[in-house]
Amino acid sequence: MTTNIILLGPPGAGKGTQARRLVDERGMTQLSTGDMLREARTSDTEMGHRVAEVMDRGELVTDDIVIGLIEEHMEKDRTNGFIFDGFPRTLAQADALARLLEKHGERLAAVVEMQVDDDVLVKRITLRATCAECGAVYNDEMRPIPSDGKCETCGSTEFKRREDDNEESLKQRLLEYYKKTSPLIGYYYANGQLKRIDGLGEIDEVAEEIDKVLD
Ligand code: AMP
Repeated sequence: MTTNIILLGPPGAGKGTQARRLVDERGMTQLSTGDMLREARTSDTEMGHRVAEVMDRGELVTDDIVIGLIEEHMEKDRTNGFIFDGFPRTLAQADALARLLEKHGERLAAVVEMQVDDDVLVKRITLRATCAECGAVYNDEMRPIPSDGKCETCGSTEFKRREDDNEESLKQRLLEYYKKTSPLIGYYYANGQLKRIDGLGEIDEVAEEIDKVLD
């Protein structure tokens, strides 16, 4: 059995940043439904167009689509433990994940809730840019793209901003989080799997908190 964790928290809590670090340092596998859907939306199919519209509005994509994506990746990406990043986001998804883990003879080591102030989320997200090559996250105020225009991690000169990182979509994404995803905090607390950490600190400080939970 391997170590599997869920990173739970609102948009901008730092789930992707911490997931990538765990991939690099522990050889775990990041399963980000947001990344999978961003790939799906580029396909010129009816499903791709529908997903793009829903994402740009900041709403949740239907459970059956994301559960299908996770199921597919759990079949083919099995390695040294999964980091579920941005999944589950509803109780139905949480139930589906429990079934899938059982099917693979796996269990969750922990559900890490990354707690961040709402005002900070707005700042993190509306000023966010990521490296197109390695996904390193920059912020116009707190961690600007280096003046030589090269990513600190991989040296790439290409950066992108997400279509849904604007104030209007963000407001909807936060509403969806509080309406549909935050009940999972109670659900995993009651299951005895919830670990709360402060997601406000520097990347290394947050990483240390997560490491404490995992070790
Ligand atoms: P993220 O990159 O995790 O912030 O996700 C970006 C967008 O993808 C969300 O605002 C949703 O529209 C969609 N999405 C990602 N993960 C899920 C999920 N587990 N369930 C439903 N929609 C999702």
